[in-house]
Amino acid sequence: MLLAAIVTAATILAVITFRTTFKLDALRASATFEVTLGLADEKVDRVDRAIVESDDAVLQLGEPSHADDIPRRWRSLGARQTPTIAQVLVLDGSPAREIVAFASRVPGPADEALRAMLLRRVLPDLEVATLPLAQIKHLHKAYDGVFMLVTYWRAIESFPDGRQAERLVIVRHDLDAIARELLPQVVPEPGSPGQTSHVNVVDDEGKLVFGGPLNKSDLLVAVRFPTTLYAWRLQVAPASGDELTVQARRRRLGEMALLALSCLVILTGLVVILLANAQERKLHRLRADFVANVSHELKTPLALVRMFGELLMTGRVASEDKRAQYLQIIVHESDRLTSLIENVLDFARVERGKVAYDLAPGDLSLVVGRAVEACRYRAETEGMRVEVDVPDELPEVVMDERAIQLLVINLVENALKYAPGTDVVQVVISPPHTVKGEEAVTIAVIDRGPGIPAEDRERIFERFYRGRSARAGTVRGSGIGLALVAHIVGAHGGEVTVRDGEGGKGSSFVVTLPVHGPKKRRLGG
Ligand code: ADP
Repeated sequence: MLLAAIVTAATILAVITFRTTFKLDALRASATFEVTLGLADEKVDRVDRAIVESDDAVLQLGEPSHADDIPRRWRSLGARQTPTIAQVLVLDGSPAREIVAFASRVPGPADEALRAMLLRRVLPDLEVATLPLAQIKHLHKAYDGVFMLVTYWRAIESFPDGRQAERLVIVRHDLDAIARELLPQVVPEPGSPGQTSHVNVVDDEGKLVFGGPLNKSDLLVAVRFPTTLYAWRLQVAPASGDELTVQARRRRLGEMALLALSCLVILTGLVVILLANAQERKLHRLRADFVANVSHELKTPLALVRMFGELLMTGRVASEDKRAQYLQIIVHESDRLTSLIENVLDFARVERGKVAYDLAPGDLSLVVGRAVEACRYRAETEGMRVEVDVPDELPEVVMDERAIQLLVINLVENALKYAPGTDVVQVVISPPHTVKGEEAVTIAVIDRGPGIPAEDRERIFERFYRGRSARAGTVRGSGIGLALVAHIVGAHGGEVTVRDGEGGKGSSFVVTLPVHGPKKRRLGG
């Protein structure tokens, strides 16, 4: 359940992050687009306004009703106010459209041809019929591949006699002048400092009219000049358009990497939790087994003590010999019980790290003898013998006698437990010899049972670990005996190993104890 919830949450998180990243990208792109569009609009407006302002200035010259005077007055106005206007032409209202007045910024021989061109080619394109009086209109068109921009409006000429006549005023803008005077104000020179965007002007076929070519970018914005140069478009591309795209891609990659990392962390966390959970469950099971096994082991000697105690209580024991034998059994079984309980208590202390060994020189053969004695009754009931082999000369060994006795009892009891049906268990103490430059003795407990499979040898000294045969069979045990043995040996500065018994049959547990105790203790005092 928890796992499914975590995986679902992680997936939702991933999807949301994914979507947010792409949404943010789209938002950023659209924000950039908006800004660029605003910039482009502002530029075309500026150009438009400048042209229309010139037109208005000329229109004002003829107000309220002196259209015929416009060209003359315009000539005297000077170039500053209407820098882009090249010619002004006034036609009458008759269908023939006779020229009433004309003026040119720079009069010259070309004027004649220009006038002819305006009358023949441009005039038919003007939408005069529906145009209200004094309202300006523009025509922006290419004639034989050359663009022409004219502004025109209908006006009135009043004569001194009160007569009025309609006029058509045509103003021609010089596109070269527009390119020279106006466009540079809105289209920065390529590479000029502080330039944040690339701008150019193209005609309706996309041919470049002004400025340099632009980088093809997703963020390119093109807008028409709204009223005047409407056949042309102003194009704006953020100078950093490519950079923005690269940046966005890099950012997306970074965010994806972060997302992958978070997923990895979540997954690792999950694996750790699962492993810890499995470990916890295993330990729990082991503990439960342990309690059941220990209780069972305690029951057997207790039952014996009780049985022989009751026998003695009835007073119907035939001989004094029997009596003595029963009492001995009770004492030995109580000893075994004690050692069992000590085993558990010691183990608990080891687990809590609170065990303290009382190391002092002592007689090893005596301690081993006592341990073997404690196991004798069990051996006899199993029909087995425990032989002890002690060398003639044995130095005193630094040890905790109670712990070493427990150690030997554990090993002998194991031999009796796991080698049933055999006749002898040997406990052999070696004469002192040198191990790793130190004087040491070994205690070997050798049985002739089934031995220990290689895969178990590594692990039998772990706490709660029970060998495969022990788990499969009916042999009772708690899995703490050898763990305790290993701990005791460690505390004495020695080591314990297991190998095949004599002739490759059975097993042989060999405990090596340094005669003078563990090194640290000796150095310390
Ligand atoms: P247990 O309570 O199971 O005897 P131990 O720690 O004393 O726990 O032993 C661990 C395991 O080592 C046993 O379960 C058994 O499989 C194996 N073992 C110990 N001594 C012997 C032996 N003499 N012969 C065969 N197997 C042994």
